[in-house]
Amino acid sequence: MNIFKRLYARTFQKIMYLGAFFINFSGPKLFKGEKAINKTIELFKSKNISNIFIPVADSIYKLGLIDEYLKYLKENNISYTLYIDIKPNPTIEDVENGLKLYLDNNCQTIIAIGGGSVIDAAKIIGARASNPKISVNKMKGLFKIRKKLPLLIAVPTTAGTGSETTLAAVIVDKENDHKYHIDSPKLIPSYAVLDPNFLLTLPGKLTSTTGMDALTHAVEAYIGHSNTRKTKKYALSAIKLIFENLKNSYDNPSNINYRENMQLASYQAGVAFTRAYVGNVHSIAHALGGKYNVAHGYANAIILPIVLKEYGKTIYSKMAKIYDYVGFKGLKNKKDKCEFVINYIKQLNSSMSIENKFSNIIKDEDIDELSTFAFKESYPLYPVPKLLDKLDIKNIYKSLIKS
Ligand SMILES: [Zn+2]
Repeated sequence: MNIFKRLYARTFQKIMYLGAFFINFSGPKLFKGEKAINKTIELFKSKNISNIFIPVADSIYKLGLIDEYLKYLKENNISYTLYIDIKPNPTIEDVENGLKLYLDNNCQTIIAIGGGSVIDAAKIIGARASNPKISVNKMKGLFKIRKKLPLLIAVPTTAGTGSETTLAAVIVDKENDHKYHIDSPKLIPSYAVLDPNFLLTLPGKLTSTTGMDALTHAVEAYIGHSNTRKTKKYALSAIKLIFENLKNSYDNPSNINYRENMQLASYQAGVAFTRAYVGNVHSIAHALGGKYNVAHGYANAIILPIVLKEYGKTIYSKMAKIYDYVGFKGLKNKKDKCEFVINYIKQLNSSMSIENKFSNIIKDEDIDELSTFAFKESYPLYPVPKLLDKLDIKNIYKSLIKS
């Protein structure tokens, strides 16, 4: 990339970084541990809330995982309205249907129980409830939501997206065949409930790919240029927790400790990237998700080691710090430590049956379009260690195809 384009991007990123000190990024308050969800009942009582709205993943509902909670709500005279029709990749229609239920039943607060899709939809339902004059399409982009949301509680049932801590929500506009981000600090939930019981029935494939999504959040935040002391600390801690617990929770799905640690890692990675951004791994994965509906975590898992390799010497120091922090021993040289960590990520993927390239997904004739999308997402916004231009991204897509 030429020097002027580089200078422009780095100046832009610096301004965004400094400007962000004026935004309140304090994440949600936490309720942690087994059955932590029951603590919300005391919270509702203390705030005189007697009518709540519950968007919930239909798998969680059908498995009976919230039956006990619903019983406690009834016993405490708290009425609820369930909303179980949110699809993966939620649409504006899902949001508007949910909003109607919320308003028709005079709900006062939202507790979203599910993966990223349910939590994202719940965030936008809340935003629409308190900003009825702003349509979902008008919320697109940065800082378009004016009024504070109703009390929003997020209960993640996967350990990966970090949606319970972030200021972002992704929505699909079906009419225009378009998927986009809504970003506003007002979308950060007030509370997050990290209850590992919800993860015990998560299938292996979802455990591995959502876990690799969390790892990508932590690594991209850490190697980027927009860290604070807090984001560095959270990112490193998340990486260590994921290295120590992801494969274990994949192999021992009903072990509560591994699940609990992964939940914490996902949360910490979410806090880190909300302030310090993600990078090219995400932009390259998002373009694949938009074009071929490739699952987000799965795409990130495959792309992460390849982009890290592309960054070369720009990340040797940071990757060596990861090596040391995680507790790997024996190597002295930064380059060797960096290569070791990249190989470790590759092995982690293959130990959970995630391939190292995409077979039969990326079409040669689409690479130009994919690269344009990915470049537009990352440049000039993402404070990546090495700025990539469209040609670099094209070459990465080519190298991701299994020959
Ligand atoms: Zn992600």
